[in-house]
Amino acid sequence: MRYAIIIGAGPAGLTAAYELLTKTDIIPIVFEQDDQPGGLSKTIDYKGNKIDIGGHRFFSKSEKVVSWWLHFLPLEPGSAGEDYHIHYKGGSASFKHTHAVAVNENQVMMLRPRKSRIYFQKKFFDYPLQLNGKTLWNLGMVKTIRIACSYIYAKLVPVKPEQHLADFFRNRFGAELYRTFFKDYTEKVWGVPCEKLPSTWGQQRVKDLNIGKVIKHAFKSVFARNTTIDQKGTSTSLIEQFMYPRFGPGQMWETVARAVEELGGKIHYHTTVTAVNGDEHNRIRSVEVTDHVTNEKKIYEGDYFFSTMPVKELVKQTAHLDIPPEVQYAAESLEYRDFLIVGILTSALAIKEKNSRFTDNWIYIQDRHIRAGRIQFFHNWSPYMIKDPDDIWIGVEYFCNESDRFWQQSDDAIAAGAISEMQQIGILNAEQVKDKLVVKVKKAYPSYFGGYNNFSVVQEFLDQIDNLYLIGRNGMHRYNNTDHSMLTAMEAVENIITGTKDKRNIWEINTEDVYHEEDEISSEKIS
Ligand SMILES: Cc1cc2nc3c(=O)[nH]c(=O)nc-3n(C[C@H](O)[C@H](O)[C@H](O)COP(=O)(O)OP(=O)(O)OC[C@H]3O[C@@H](n4cnc5c(N)ncnc54)[C@H](O)[C@@H]3O)c2cc1C
Repeated sequence: MRYAIIIGAGPAGLTAAYELLTKTDIIPIVFEQDDQPGGLSKTIDYKGNKIDIGGHRFFSKSEKVVSWWLHFLPLEPGSAGEDYHIHYKGGSASFKHTHAVAVNENQVMMLRPRKSRIYFQKKFFDYPLQLNGKTLWNLGMVKTIRIACSYIYAKLVPVKPEQHLADFFRNRFGAELYRTFFKDYTEKVWGVPCEKLPSTWGQQRVKDLNIGKVIKHAFKSVFARNTTIDQKGTSTSLIEQFMYPRFGPGQMWETVARAVEELGGKIHYHTTVTAVNGDEHNRIRSVEVTDHVTNEKKIYEGDYFFSTMPVKELVKQTAHLDIPPEVQYAAESLEYRDFLIVGILTSALAIKEKNSRFTDNWIYIQDRHIRAGRIQFFHNWSPYMIKDPDDIWIGVEYFCNESDRFWQQSDDAIAAGAISEMQQIGILNAEQVKDKLVVKVKKAYPSYFGGYNNFSVVQEFLDQIDNLYLIGRNGMHRYNNTDHSMLTAMEAVENIITGTKDKRNIWEINTEDVYHEEDEISSEKIS
């Protein structure tokens, strides 16, 4: 019998487990420090109200991933057209009930319209930015002229070579638009000035978005609205629909976790991998784990090892291998950005929309005096996310470092601060707040600055350990979305099946043009 030890029951770890069970005779044993599956894609149930670690859209340009998701949670009937087909460019894919394993009406994904806006100077701007009359009116004549002039100037006199992300933005959007909509949010997310962020980050994330494309899209959307989940031909920053499990992304991973266990895999929750032990053949032999409920420590041996834990911690915990000092140093200097979200249950919003319900999934707060970066409206992601349909359930997002005084405050103080900020910008009234919850998430974002410049030495060292596979987001120190994280797991399993030792194919995921998540792209809008 062969065993695979998998560190982490997030999307990557669970995908690896399921793929091993369905394609090989290798038995996966998964260790998860949390009490539930899903990792960053989990959904927390708080007194019947459900909250994500930031909203999680399900969308992908990989047919393999979409079909994998729909196998577990099919689209609810009627959501993708009468025939329940989903059309892809190239034509073949269609998903029917028979492909799915839905066990009841709740085991479904919904196809949701995406609505996100920027809240700037008490006005809402459509995001993706639309150059329409409303936007220009909101900006005012003077601002509009300045944006136009600085855009033309940037096109005529671009900064060359681009030294940092600020140059990158100025060249593409002009200095005024960059300052208005990109600078503050990006700096909130990363905690450093755009001048300290590499321009390569923009090249990776922003891709081909430019003003011309925005205009073209604005025109196109007047005439045709996309009603399928065909997203291959669309710039990822312009995606208008996404899939979402009825009870949040965690529902997907709870379903997959159940399937893994039913198929004979084992998942140990509240169990942290505390050491990874190598052997004299430069392979990994075992992991040491601690169960937080029983405080029991155990050693598990395996034939293959998949890691989704942060690379920095993996290197620190690896014992009995000769790790060169430069690898240890490079891993130790990797940086992360932490994240916290404050769930606020309120009876009403203070903000009113003319003649319509407030239907945004999320809004970006473009105000440097407000610490919060973004607000999620979870009841708009899915009506099943809220217990009482008359209530409003928002999530106020903060990007921070665990060393910040802000992070170290008590939950009550953090929640009070969030409520006060929301009142200050006119989103809600403090006296209407009924309940609150603070969720802190360490290492939500692997940073592409600091020690990242030397990441290749870490990657090369870990890659030459034959039976160790780095997969997922923090597992590869990559800004991977769920689909990328899953695809890395699929590639790793495929390598085992085909006996491929070279791991480059795993690292190639999320470097091709077909991928890239919209919010993460526009850099202003980093999920
Ligand atoms: C705010 C935010 C919004 C996002 N929005 C989207 C979105 O809209 N769409 C999208 O596709 N993606 C989104 N993502 C990205 C998505 O969450 C990740 O790509 C995905 O969760 C990564 O999966 P993973 O399995 O690699 O890692 P994770 O989800 O981080 O899972 C890793 C797991 O390993 C466990 N673990 C770590 N160390 C140990 C250890 N030593 N022992 C045991 N267990 C351990 C962790 O507890 C965790 O459960 C978002 C991310 C964030 C932070």
